[in-house]
Amino acid sequence: MTFCTAINCLDGRTQEPVVAYLKNHFKVKYVDMITEAGPVQYLADDPSGQIANSILERTELTIVRHNVVNVAIVAHYNCLGNPVCEKTQKRQLTHARDFLKKKFPKQNIQNFWVDSDWQLNIIE
Ligand SMILES: [Zn+2]
Repeated sequence: MTFCTAINCLDGRTQEPVVAYLKNHFKVKYVDMITEAGPVQYLADDPSGQIANSILERTELTIVRHNVVNVAIVAHYNCLGNPVCEKTQKRQLTHARDFLKKKFPKQNIQNFWVDSDWQLNIIE
């Protein structure tokens, strides 16, 4: 597997930690990055909306064209685009994963929280 996919915030502080962690975690060479300002809020709270649809289309593209098996959904500390508490973001992560799992049942979808030290934590 050469590629995995990350649905991540557009926040520049999260990009390098997410790429570095996921390359090692999923043993892939490249991370296809799909960014929005706080993407979990759209997947969890407006799954039939335009932004969620765009995320789905891009995710599908990476699955079809890059044979992606592993998809990461990322939320993070101090998110400007989704300024809700950590507990709410983690709830959104769970809903986002449930939603994506229905769309892409063959893929392995994992949730990650980027903490105040910019370290990734797996969320079960
Ligand atoms: Zn953010």
